[in-house]
Amino acid sequence: MGIKQFFKTFGLIELLQGLGVTGKHFFGKKETIMYPEEKTPKSVRFRGMHAQRRYEDGTERCIACKLCEAVCPALAITIESTEAPTGERRTKRYDIDMFKCIYCGFCEEACPVDAIVMTDIHEFHMEDGPGERVYDKKKLLEIGDLYEKSIAANRAQDAKYHRPSSIRN
Ligand code: SF4
Ligand code: SF4
Repeated sequence: MGIKQFFKTFGLIELLQGLGVTGKHFFGKKETIMYPEEKTPKSVRFRGMHAQRRYEDGTERCIACKLCEAVCPALAITIESTEAPTGERRTKRYDIDMFKCIYCGFCEEACPVDAIVMTDIHEFHMEDGPGERVYDKKKLLEIGDLYEKSIAANRAQDAKYHRPSSIRN
């Protein structure tokens, strides 16, 4: 054992160095977040729970074009279309299987009318069995109605990085 190694071993240098690091973090700024009481900031592009949006007059945005269904790599979306009394094409079934979904965001990117969107909500769960994993049109519209304010605000912040939706904004 060399003299340097001798002092290192018996002088407890490495132990003191370790304690120095502990002391630095003990008195320094704390990085730990006390979740769920405290939350970290989230990007406006965060891809969380899906929602279907309406226009201000309450009309559903979705025109049942099925682009989102076609682009979904997980085959999580199932759509059946019908003709509304107004003569417009609408969905009579719009399901998203939340277990199949990989939260890629392709559906909202493909949608020409900003109908299907992903909210920034990541705290959701299912309690009533496997059937609950499928979010149907009613549920998606309810989520959209409930969170429209924050959905619109997030999309407005990010708007310059997206093409404008092509039909009626
Ligand atoms: S986020 Fe991706 S995987 Fe999920 S429904 Fe949309 S396209 Fe499909
Ligand atoms: S959500 Fe958008 S992309 Fe999907 S069917 Fe409706 S209008 Fe088309």
